[in-house]
Amino acid sequence: MYDILVIGAGPGGYVAAIKAAQLGAKVGLIEKEVVGGICLNHGCIPTKTLLKSAKVFRTVQNAATFGVNVEGTVSADLAKMVDRKNKVVKQLTSGVSFLLKKNKVDVIAGYGEVLSPTKIQVGDKVYETKKIIIATGGSPVLPPIDGVEASYKKGTLVTSRELLNVTKLPAALVIVGGGVIGVEFATVFASLGTKVTIIEMMPTILPMIDEDVTAAYTKSLRALGIDVITSAQVTKVNDKFVTYMLNDVKKTVGADLVLMAVGIRANSKGLEKLDLAMDRANIVTNEYLETSVKGVYAIGDVNGKYMLAHVASHEAIVAVNHALGKDTIPMDYKAVPQAIYGDPEIASVGLTEKEVKAQGIPYKASTFPLAASGKAMADGEKDGFIKLIVSTKYNELLGAHIYAYHATELISELTLGLNLEVTAEELANTIHPHPSLSEIVLEASLGALDKPIHI
Ligand SMILES: Cc1cc2nc3c(=O)[nH]c(=O)nc-3n(C[C@H](O)[C@H](O)[C@H](O)COP(=O)(O)OP(=O)(O)OC[C@H]3O[C@@H](n4cnc5c(N)ncnc54)[C@H](O)[C@@H]3O)c2cc1C
Repeated sequence: MYDILVIGAGPGGYVAAIKAAQLGAKVGLIEKEVVGGICLNHGCIPTKTLLKSAKVFRTVQNAATFGVNVEGTVSADLAKMVDRKNKVVKQLTSGVSFLLKKNKVDVIAGYGEVLSPTKIQVGDKVYETKKIIIATGGSPVLPPIDGVEASYKKGTLVTSRELLNVTKLPAALVIVGGGVIGVEFATVFASLGTKVTIIEMMPTILPMIDEDVTAAYTKSLRALGIDVITSAQVTKVNDKFVTYMLNDVKKTVGADLVLMAVGIRANSKGLEKLDLAMDRANIVTNEYLETSVKGVYAIGDVNGKYMLAHVASHEAIVAVNHALGKDTIPMDYKAVPQAIYGDPEIASVGLTEKEVKAQGIPYKASTFPLAASGKAMADGEKDGFIKLIVSTKYNELLGAHIYAYHATELISELTLGLNLEVTAEELANTIHPHPSLSEIVLEASLGALDKPIHI
């Protein structure tokens, strides 16, 4: 009899298993593929590894700007990049396996089917447990558009999972969906020389991001040679042609490969016998991640709240503490950082300007450009800015939006700040190292109070 059985070994499930074992519980972790889940094997890490290769390629192409002469031709070898990606993934998943072993978690290989709140079947064995944590993640959606399924079967249309293992650079790539996954792949392939077209149904790409950031980001994608087509609905995929409607006009674009990146749907199969309360495919949970069935928890992509690895891992800790009767702060989604790893990057936390306006909160927005940062100049990275949104009443931080290289590292200071209800005064009174990119936080905080110094 286990104290906790976890289904799915992604950043939700494996973190839950390790944490529960650290708290002294007897834990089993059921995984049908490789530990690490989508994030380590087919998502976060593989994309960042390829983005790094693309960045190195572009940096070498621009080496002369830094006074470095490169003789001969510079070329991109996608097969070698994919090989490096596979090595990084292997190293990380092996590391997770080691941690699970070290913490005495029983890893049970196979597909878990839940029979009841205390029984899970894997193959021909039934395992008994006091509590269950469902962390089965999600899978890319193939929408019911004419020709999508047939093209997927032929291999002319792929999801992110397959695209990560393509070793021959396509001459033209059409990406359906201008969300995080779509724009990250667009950056990789356009940087390596592929002609990339993004087709997005909404009026802008990345609709959840602050409008100023999205506008600047769209410009940078276009500067990279990417065609960004918005307010366009794809109606048909026929082998290597994608048909879409734009302003009631039917248009077609050709491609060697089509990436379908319109979203992720929760993996909720195999759980039917629990008869859980659901919101479409997503499992409904409370603030401790407990489902409608007592003692059964659902964390990560499968509850559909935020499809982000760091949210899955945080939910894991809250769920485990609650399941084992430990004191825990309930889940709070006020300060969830979002990160997009293009070139430059985007990172944001808290409310966008549009959301603050919609909520009728009196606010001030303060921006500071990278072009006025000494460190950004030294690094040859002049594109970008930071935008802080603070309340008029207390100068309390409401939202932070960064469009800059290393934005995803800078956002943690502001995420902590938002969590602790920081004010612009407190940020401005914090000494930031010089020269560092983090000085843009200080300058924007000064701007929210009065004026920045360096502009
Ligand atoms: C291309 C791409 C890039 C991404 N980049 C980022 C990023 O940069 N940052 C970020 O925060 N997020 C990113 N994500 C999202 C991130 O991968 C997910 O939010 C995260 O993996 C969710 O973790 P999870 O534990 O809920 O599920 P998953 O990581 O999906 O893991 C679920 C695991 O459960 C297993 N499983 C499912 N059903 C069963 C069953 N019945 N029995 C046994 N095992 C089962 C699966 O095999 C899988 O290993 C990206 C996603 C993609 C696709």
